[in-house]
Amino acid sequence: METEGQYFVAVVGGAVAGSVAAEVLADHGVRVAVIEQNKRPYGKIEDGLPRWHAEQRKQEYARIDARLKKPRVYFVPSTKLGRDLDFQDLCNQWGFSAVILANGAWRDRDLGIPGAEEYVGCGLLYQNPFIYWYNHKAETNYSGPQYDVPDQAVVVGGGLASIDVVKVLQIENYSRALRERSVEVGLHELEKGIPAACKAHGIEPQSLGIRGCTLIYRRREQDMPLAQAPDNATPEQIAKTEQVRLKMLRLARDKYLFQVLDRTLTTGLLVENGRLAGLKVSQSKIEGRKAEPIPGSERELRAPLVISSIGSVPEIIPGVAMKGEYYALTDDSLPRYAGCERVFGVGNVVTGQGNIRVSQTHSQKVASQLIKNYLVARDGHGGASSSHAATEARAAARATALKETLGTLPTLSPGEMVALERRIGTLQERAGYSGDYDAWIANVTPPDLE
Ligand SMILES: Cc1cc2nc3c(=O)[nH]c(=O)nc-3n(C[C@H](O)[C@H](O)[C@H](O)COP(=O)(O)OP(=O)(O)OC[C@H]3O[C@@H](n4cnc5c(N)ncnc54)[C@H](O)[C@@H]3O)c2cc1C
Repeated sequence: METEGQYFVAVVGGAVAGSVAAEVLADHGVRVAVIEQNKRPYGKIEDGLPRWHAEQRKQEYARIDARLKKPRVYFVPSTKLGRDLDFQDLCNQWGFSAVILANGAWRDRDLGIPGAEEYVGCGLLYQNPFIYWYNHKAETNYSGPQYDVPDQAVVVGGGLASIDVVKVLQIENYSRALRERSVEVGLHELEKGIPAACKAHGIEPQSLGIRGCTLIYRRREQDMPLAQAPDNATPEQIAKTEQVRLKMLRLARDKYLFQVLDRTLTTGLLVENGRLAGLKVSQSKIEGRKAEPIPGSERELRAPLVISSIGSVPEIIPGVAMKGEYYALTDDSLPRYAGCERVFGVGNVVTGQGNIRVSQTHSQKVASQLIKNYLVARDGHGGASSSHAATEARAAARATALKETLGTLPTLSPGEMVALERRIGTLQERAGYSGDYDAWIANVTPPDLE
């Protein structure tokens, strides 16, 4: 379908989901402004995926770059929706044909114990800032918070990201202990497995005196969401998935030497001298998906640091209506915002959890549906122009029927296109972005970024 010069779409967030949506639309003649809060557009690839995924991160950066450099894509860095741009304005005043939210899930889900927020930075940390720190702390220009990584921390979680948090803690502790013995062992070597890395340097890991961190999970080990059973799984498939989860957990424990306390619920805070000194925990009784504390099983779990890694949800943006922890988007295959027909969601902002592939395919599907169902080609039939009057009439009738059943996105006149381009140019100028994507990325990439 050729929609050249008729539609202008704003995509909020330039990482996997945002760049994929931008590419699909731009390839169909749609102009796309990609509004990204950071200087670099890589989202969770840079700030979530721990830095030992060096090769994968490089490849994903290159893919995102290639998409954002496409003709008709206008990259707008250092511009945050909710801070530099108002959501209602963007949807209703700017004149875009549609707005696509691709801004991911950056708000850690609350630990869920009343009063816990008081101790953030004082014995309690959340996963997102912790991994951000880990990925950037070695850069000379890093100016964010610094975190201590003591031995015997407790991680509340159970999902894949919480295993990454545990790995960071263990790798940091072993790396420090080895350094104290004047043995330098690199991150990548330790990430392959702590016992093997220690032994390669003639050291028994136990001799370093590290007790290790503890991962607590409210259900059983075999319930940990480390692997997913297919939809409508049979009992055999569920049993197989549980075996896969147990195996993954066993391998992780063997390689990174941490403890797991399953069937453990956090029920309270342990506070000493104004600092979180651990958690009150209870054993849980599992009934189906429910995990209830067993009366009388409460005990204290002391820890110099508690890291909560129980999931990420979209950040609250002024003016964006919420449905629970998520934006008020419909649940169907084309997630549409309840408050405005022309606003859609793609990637982590919709799915919350997920992985690179899930974000990519979700965004591809939604953007392709938009093209197919909501954009009307200039010649009205979604194909090459035909001079044949009957074909044109049929195509026009089809387009009208489509418009009546689904509604289409507004097209823009050439004058409106130019005006919108000018306003986007002003945003780019304010960010210091000249339009040369490669030069910008080269300039804003820390020289010592891993
Ligand atoms: C610890 C951890 C480990 C992981 N490991 C893996 C793994 O091994 N393999 C895997 O496949 N996946 C992994 N993932 C998941 C994967 O990284 C994400 O699912 C995926 O990258 C999400 O892509 P996205 O584009 O949907 O969201 P994001 O990457 O979050 O992109 C959102 C973009 O929107 C921008 N943004 C946010 N708010 C605003 C705003 N208000 N205004 C403008 N811009 C905004 C952000 O800066 C960001 O660039 C991991 C995630 C974590 C946290």
